[in-house]
Amino acid sequence: MSRFLDNKYNSLKPYTPGEQPQGKSYIKLNTNELPYAPSVQAQRAAAEQLESLRLYPDPAATCLKAPLAESFGVLPENVFVANGSDEVLAFCFMALCPKGASFADITYGFYSVYAALYGVDAEIIPLSDDFSIDVSEYMGEERTIFIANPNAPTGIALSLEVVEKLVAQNSQRLVIIDEAYVDFGAQSAVPLTKKYDNLMVVGTFSKSRAMAGARLGYAVANRELIADLERIKFSFNPYNVSRPTMAAGAAAIADVAYFEQCIDKVVATRQWTNEQLKSLGFELTDSRANFIFARHTRMNAQDIYEKLKQKGILVRWFDAPRIRNFLRISIGTDENMRALVDAVKHILAEK
Ligand SMILES: *Cc1c(COP(=O)(O)O)cnc(C)c1O
Repeated sequence: MSRFLDNKYNSLKPYTPGEQPQGKSYIKLNTNELPYAPSVQAQRAAAEQLESLRLYPDPAATCLKAPLAESFGVLPENVFVANGSDEVLAFCFMALCPKGASFADITYGFYSVYAALYGVDAEIIPLSDDFSIDVSEYMGEERTIFIANPNAPTGIALSLEVVEKLVAQNSQRLVIIDEAYVDFGAQSAVPLTKKYDNLMVVGTFSKSRAMAGARLGYAVANRELIADLERIKFSFNPYNVSRPTMAAGAAAIADVAYFEQCIDKVVATRQWTNEQLKSLGFELTDSRANFIFARHTRMNAQDIYEKLKQKGILVRWFDAPRIRNFLRISIGTDENMRALVDAVKHILAEK
């Protein structure tokens, strides 16, 4: 820390991203990227923008908002786009939590980081023992609610009925549903945004669209909430989405067939991996995401994590209360997951 840093940031604990190793090549199952390339049409659309990089991107993001809105069955005025959904979430903590925020003890790590960064008072609501969210614990307060659905890193999803109940019974407070993983097997709350003015759905192209490197996220909500986000964006960085990313995003939405093919593959591979790991003595949550969350009944998670790393396979282990004995393993290709299962067999045999 330099002597120039404002004291209020002294105690910030920045988010710890999963490792992005630059030297040695690993089978990378630690940051929930897709193992498949982005849509070829998206790649081409991005490449076509390279000559135009001398120009700023369209701050209104018209060519991206239109197809995104259409795909959701809403109007462009109901859609906001940003530099990853992390930026959307940052704006929400910055501007839409005047009375504080409520979120789970075990959830996406950025919620607590943003709360600290923007001085938002956070109410932490523990998950149940089985890691499910009991929405009755979120009733009747004034703080903005943040729920990842499916949750990370547990993968457990809430049904649409439960989300609607939460939104309907908390009309005085804003509910933000982070749907980073929804495409892999949960129900989206986007249709409810037409009925409830206290609901915002946040999503990303990083996971199901295989575009983590492009940095593209979005929000869907009623027009007033979207106008609030635009007000923050135009006070912060009007050019938050680059030209190649905007073009690639629009093209990715149009390539429905490829999107569905990727999802189907991930879901099938997740099922296979689940069965294999169960037969090796793991207990798994009912993950609806592109990762699994697993604990071995006899072997310590940190040990497995370290031994997998030695064997060239990176998974995610969180040194955090309640989940220290779990591993979060992203779903790779079938070949990646066969390698994982083989490595785990070896590790268990060595023991
Ligand atoms: C990956 C992830 C995000 C962030 O996604 P970006 O769009 O890449 O910023 C947000 N929320 C959850 C729960 C995630 O897992």
